[in-house]
Amino acid sequence: MKEEEVRNVQAAAKPLQGIPGRLARLRSEFPALGIDALLITHGPNRHYMTGFTGSAGMALITEEGAVLVTDFRYMMQAKDQAPEYSVIQHEVQIFRTVAALTGKSGVHRLGLESRHVSLQQSGQLQAALGPLEYVHTEDVIERLRDVKDEDEIRTISEAARMTDAAFTEVLNYIRPGVTERWIAAELEYQLRLAGADSGGFAFIVASGERSALPHGLASDKEIGQDEFVTMDFGANVRGYLSDITRTVFVGKPSERHKELYAIVLEANMKTIAGLRPGLSGREGDSLGRDVIASYGYGEQFGHGLGHGFGLEIHEQVRLSRESKSVLVPGHVITVEPGIYIPGFGGVRIEDDVLITDDGVKVLTSSPKEMIVL
Ligand code: ZN
Ligand code: ZN
Repeated sequence: MKEEEVRNVQAAAKPLQGIPGRLARLRSEFPALGIDALLITHGPNRHYMTGFTGSAGMALITEEGAVLVTDFRYMMQAKDQAPEYSVIQHEVQIFRTVAALTGKSGVHRLGLESRHVSLQQSGQLQAALGPLEYVHTEDVIERLRDVKDEDEIRTISEAARMTDAAFTEVLNYIRPGVTERWIAAELEYQLRLAGADSGGFAFIVASGERSALPHGLASDKEIGQDEFVTMDFGANVRGYLSDITRTVFVGKPSERHKELYAIVLEANMKTIAGLRPGLSGREGDSLGRDVIASYGYGEQFGHGLGHGFGLEIHEQVRLSRESKSVLVPGHVITVEPGIYIPGFGGVRIEDDVLITDDGVKVLTSSPKEMIVL
């Protein structure tokens, strides 16, 4: 074969990318799910399947068609962002419009995202659509979202770089007397300056004894002398998030502070060195958990070691003791060991990694050695 022909064959064999690829993969699951259409109501799933980033609307995907139903405010944006879809403006009651569409397309078995449809919506839907068969599906799109494509990885990497930039900047402001809330605001401000659309979630800034709270949201507490300050934050870039934690020390650390920090850092680094495709979520979890347990702090590490993220901050893939995940290339997950000692304080060090063909690529590059301010 000539070189050009070889290239053509490769191109033909390559699975469809982007939205057309996602539609094809979803439709290939219809027979196994026992449906001939899926109604997507969950925002991040709608974004993933259509490209539309607005906050309202539903997508109806049938074997042949793809319709995005939204309201007046979003018509122009939806047409622009979702060219693979026919975009329809709904009446006062969105389900009436959906009913007309399912009738027209001869849908018999309509899949619903049961995790995301409220009892009220389900009642309205059945009143409007009448005698269809409703099939409760769970996590269909969420599972498609687990493996990220090149575009998604690029966007998440961008979000990770912005968190690194914000961390570098915020170090200039952390000192005794500054409130946690102020630090959280500064982080968000720096993320925006770096190009983020917003912060990715409610930031954790927890200092002193509060750093023993794994989810200590930023409070009015002032940072004191000789305290850990744990910051867990991330950016939202075109809907995709990053999620990083760094713990710094203000003042003069004791031997115990240094010991805790060194153990968590070792757990973080050993996990990153050991993660690879084929590993189960439980095996991944024990890479870091065993390090912490070997120093006698197993009881003080009460959460999972990591989680998938992307359009949402917690997605399906988990590194934990109960995880059913198996890592494959394209998974994007956090690695976030921690030790939390009530009445003393805590340390967490969280990075974002991409599972590659033979290991991981670390997407966050903020320094990890103990920073003393
Ligand atoms: Zn985090
Ligand atoms: Zn996290």
